Amino acid sequence: MATNKNPFTNTLEQLKKAADLINLDPDTHAILKVPYRTFQFSIPVKMDDNSWKVFEGYRVQYNNDRGPYKGGIRFHHQANLHEVKALAALMTWKTAVANIPLGGGKGGIKVDPKKLSEGELERLSRGYIRAARDFIGPDIDIPAPDVNTNPTIMGWMADEYSKLVGRSTPGVITGKPLALGGSQGREAATGLGGFYLLQEVVAKLKINPKKAKIVIQGFGNVGYHFSRFAYKAGYNIIAISDSQGNIFDKRGKGLNPKHVMNTKRGKGLASGCYCKGTVCDCENYTRVSDKKMLEIPCDILVPAALENQITKTNAGRIKAKVILELANGPVTSEADEKLSKRGIVVVPDILANSGGVTVSYFEWLQNLSNEYWTEQEVNKKLKEVVTAAFNDIWKNKEKYSTDLRTAAYVLAIQRVAEALQAKGYR
Ligand code: NAD
Repeated sequence: MATNKNPFTNTLEQLKKAADLINLDPDTHAILKVPYRTFQFSIPVKMDDNSWKVFEGYRVQYNNDRGPYKGGIRFHHQANLHEVKALAALMTWKTAVANIPLGGGKGGIKVDPKKLSEGELERLSRGYIRAARDFIGPDIDIPAPDVNTNPTIMGWMADEYSKLVGRSTPGVITGKPLALGGSQGREAATGLGGFYLLQEVVAKLKINPKKAKIVIQGFGNVGYHFSRFAYKAGYNIIAISDSQGNIFDKRGKGLNPKHVMNTKRGKGLASGCYCKGTVCDCENYTRVSDKKMLEIPCDILVPAALENQITKTNAGRIKAKVILELANGPVTSEADEKLSKRGIVVVPDILANSGGVTVSYFEWLQNLSNEYWTEQEVNKKLKEVVTAAFNDIWKNKEKYSTDLRTAAYVLAIQRVAEALQAKGYR
């Protein structure tokens, strides 16, 4: 269902809607509409057959008024500067919504990682850091995992940076393996944060979790961990998809995510990448087209893959009560309007998946202080942060009689604008 809509245009439309609602002054709006810095670079990699390939890399530093730039690195064959800019903007609003002292950035490489050997992937990851070393750092810009990147890759990247600067610098990257200064709870944090938010939303909307049916698009880090927590809490997961197809339990008995992941991982990659194997290896389930998958009647629809999945074309056919945006930018602004008119509640990405950057922030704090927390401590603090953000946004929704996305943008804009203005730029 993906369309060609420029995802950055989408985030600007969302920004404008909230800016208009609060009469944001035009100068502040002008500053918030553009990234502070944009980098595009080439990464030459020696392939296993001794040939060289040159990959295109990006890093966008959108806004650092509230703290160092922060955001993941995506490896995807369709990665491009517009997408990275959009994702960097979303990171700015997300860190503000979570009220953590960080800004927003994002990175990417145009590559299909499924086509690389593990050695090639490592050389590419290290090459990215060599190209970006001058403009990242623990108090400048702190990358993390995103689509098709994982703790192993973050470990290589942190190691490369430490070698380049000549000292151990774990705080330059989050989402690292535990052995290299990673945080307990980071790997599952985006999914767990999404689950905590789901619990808040179903309580507000009086949906019974034990009777609620969930459809999940995307079964990587975020989709998988979210589904584990939801399954444990008694939700009924009736369909799951990945880039290669989907499985739908028509009988309504529900899918066990651990079983589905074990089957997918049967053909997985040693480094634990979620990009290999497929949920389609699970037998005895119905398959539907990718388009129809999003239109399966359910209570909660969870896009957890890529942007632009719910558009003006299919928004009228969505049959969920709630859309929990664990992916970044899965719903376009035109679709938002349609869904809102139909009474479908959209929990926006900048809130729904903020658990990831929140625990990344915790990881960074632990690296800087060289003191490490237990998983219970991490999860308790995570719950406090996302619940506070939810309550702040719900108050804005009622105050301004608006949808949750606009309410979240209002909160974010006000916090970033306050920092910007406190610096005396204006
Ligand atoms: P991942 O690479 O671990 O998994 C992505 C999943 O999406 C894979 O299962 C892939 O097969 C699937 N997918 C790709 N294209 C698809 C399609 N057209 N239809 C169905 N499934 C498809 O990535 P991730 O880290 O889980 O990220 C997923 C989304 O969550 C992205 O939008 C990312 O920006 C966002 N996000 C991730 C984090 C994080 O901590 N990893 C944090 C915040 C937001």
